[in-house]
Amino acid sequence: MMNLEEFAGAIRESREIVVFTGAGISTESGIPDFRSPGGIWSRYRPVSFQEFISSEESRVEAWKRRLETYAVDQNAKPNIGHYFVQSLNEKGKLIGLITQNVDGLHSQSGLPEDKIVELHGSNRTIRCLECSKSYDPVIIMERLTGNFSSPRCDDCGGILKSATISFGQAMPERAMRQAQEWTEQARIFIVMGSSLQVQPAASFPVIARHNGAVLAIINREPTMLDEYASFAHHGAIGEFCRRFNSMIADG
Ligand code: NAD
Repeated sequence: MMNLEEFAGAIRESREIVVFTGAGISTESGIPDFRSPGGIWSRYRPVSFQEFISSEESRVEAWKRRLETYAVDQNAKPNIGHYFVQSLNEKGKLIGLITQNVDGLHSQSGLPEDKIVELHGSNRTIRCLECSKSYDPVIIMERLTGNFSSPRCDDCGGILKSATISFGQAMPERAMRQAQEWTEQARIFIVMGSSLQVQPAASFPVIARHNGAVLAIINREPTMLDEYASFAHHGAIGEFCRRFNSMIADG
C-alpha cells in the first residue's frame, strides 16, 4: 500500500492517468447517490428497459421519478471533485475520464467531450427510441403536467426515453470500447465515489490493476476492491481534493 505522500508523488510524475467516477463524486453537488437511505432510489424502484418499452404504466412511473429529481439535476453545479479531474487534464496528465454518472457535471466542469466516456449515457438528452431524434429535456419536461401520458416523438410518434442506459439495456458499444482502451493505457487508475457494485463498469479497475497500473480508490465507504488497491482513502471527495490539490500543485 502507498501512503498519501507516495500517491501524490506518483500523480506528480505521471501523464497516463485514467479517472473512473460514480455517483459519489456528485453528492457534494446535491445529487443523491444510488444507495442513500430515503433517497429517490428507495422510493421508486428502477424501471427496466423491457418494462419501459412494453408498459405505459412503467413509462409514466419512470417519468414521474425524473420529474421529481429534475429541478435538482438542472441546478446542480460541478464541485471540487469534478474540477480535480479537469485540472489533471489541463496539466496534460489525463488519458480520459470514465464515468457511470448521467448528470453531465464532468462536461460542465470544462473537461472536453473527447476525454469523457459516459458508460451509462446522459440525462441531458432525451431520445426517440424509433428514429433517434434528440430533444432538450426542457422541451419534454414541460409537457409532463397533470395526469400526463408518456411523451412521444413529434416526428414519428415513437417512445421517448432519457439517453441513459437502463437495467436490461445493452451497454453502449463505442463507450465500452473507449473505456477498455483507456484502461489498458493507464499507469494510474483512480476510482472516485463508486461503490464498485455495478457491472460491467466495475470491471475496469480490475483490468487496470491486472495490467500493472497503480489503482487508487477514494470513497466514503470501503469497497470490495480496496484490498486490491495500491492506495485507498475512505472519506469525502471534497475534503480529500482540497488537501491533495496542494500536494500535487508543482506536478
Ligand atoms: P453508488 O451509489 O453505488 O456508490 C456511490 C459511492 O460513493 C458509495 O460507496 C458512497 O459511500 C460514496 N460516496 C458518496 N458521497 C461521497 C463523497 N462525497 N465522497 C466520497 N465518497 C462518496 O454509485 P455508483 O457506483 O456510481 O453506482 C450507481 C449507479 O447509479 C450508476 O450506474 C449510475 O449510473 C447511477 N446513478 C448516477 C447518478 C449521477 O449521475 N450522479 C446518481 C445516482 C445513481
